[in-house]
Amino acid sequence: MLVVLKANASESDVKAVCQKIESLGLRAHAIPGAQRTAIGITGNRGEVEPGAIEAFECVQEVIRVSKPYKLVSRELKEENTVVRFPDSDAAIGGKEVAVIAGPCGVETREQAFAAAERVAKAGARFFRGGAFKPRTSPYAFQGLGELGLQILAEVRENFGLLIVTEAVDHETLALVDQYADVIQIGARNMQNFSLLKRAGKASKPVLLKRGMSATLEEFLMAAEYIMSEGNYNVILCERGVRTFADHTRNTLDLSVVPAVQRLSHLPIIVDPSHGTGKRNKVTPLSRAAVAVGADGLIIEVHCDPDRALSDGNQSLYPDQFDSLMVEVRQIAHVLGRSVADPVTNPGARRPAGAAAD
Ligand code: PEP
Ligand code: MN
Repeated sequence: MLVVLKANASESDVKAVCQKIESLGLRAHAIPGAQRTAIGITGNRGEVEPGAIEAFECVQEVIRVSKPYKLVSRELKEENTVVRFPDSDAAIGGKEVAVIAGPCGVETREQAFAAAERVAKAGARFFRGGAFKPRTSPYAFQGLGELGLQILAEVRENFGLLIVTEAVDHETLALVDQYADVIQIGARNMQNFSLLKRAGKASKPVLLKRGMSATLEEFLMAAEYIMSEGNYNVILCERGVRTFADHTRNTLDLSVVPAVQRLSHLPIIVDPSHGTGKRNKVTPLSRAAVAVGADGLIIEVHCDPDRALSDGNQSLYPDQFDSLMVEVRQIAHVLGRSVADPVTNPGARRPAGAAAD
């Protein structure tokens, strides 16, 4: 159920309608839009009796949402969601195509700093790097844990990059929430509903990766789990799905970008690194992702990929990342979008969003 308020509804009107909804044992999600505020109602098992809500003078209409997902739906919010960050002009979902780059995993301070310097200079605004790595083998590098998060906080401080890093369970989610600017939920956890609900209570935006065999509806329902707990800053990420094709690690499903944009107001970015698993395919698919309308890219970059502790085969050399940025900048321009320019002294930019405790 969706309550659309009149354009002139005041803040106290919104509050009164929300209180009424909550008094009925339901949850109210007030989502301000450019023209008007809409209130999504969740928690109802059956039909909600609209009468009590329609009675408010400030209510324009009460609509039944036809999709199984409500809060992620464009029916709730017509205009695109732009995820913003405190003390930074970087955003995800706006005119600028957001670029997140860095190694698969944080291995050492030196390794993270070397990659951060290069990606920041090339124009990336966000740094990626796992401190907790979900690996197929229990004997493979599992990440540096909290030490990795501390290194990431130093990267933010020194290079002005916002930090994106993965949480793999409840315990690590609480830690990642303290240190990072964006909490990544990996493909393997896309349907870990208890973790999704926990992410919905976090203070930071969530980057939700598509499960490797998830349908579009399952993907959107996973985002709905996060939003239903009150965290409305969700960024979707296509990272390839399993198919019979064996020339790539996964098959990057770029058609999901316009498909998501039709149904949802949430931003969607693309991960051509995991999506292809092959270094030589990352740049061509990055170009295609921007051309298809993605709101951002997440790219693995390593200064010495042959010695990387994870995903070296799909990690770009910094010089290759430089070229990728030049190319996607031009493609973005054709579409009336932009990619941040290179910077000579990234340390001076320092957004310093969340400082670690
Ligand atoms: C990653 O980003 O390093 C990662 C493990 O991604 P995914 O969950 O998409 O496999
Ligand atoms: Mn990886």
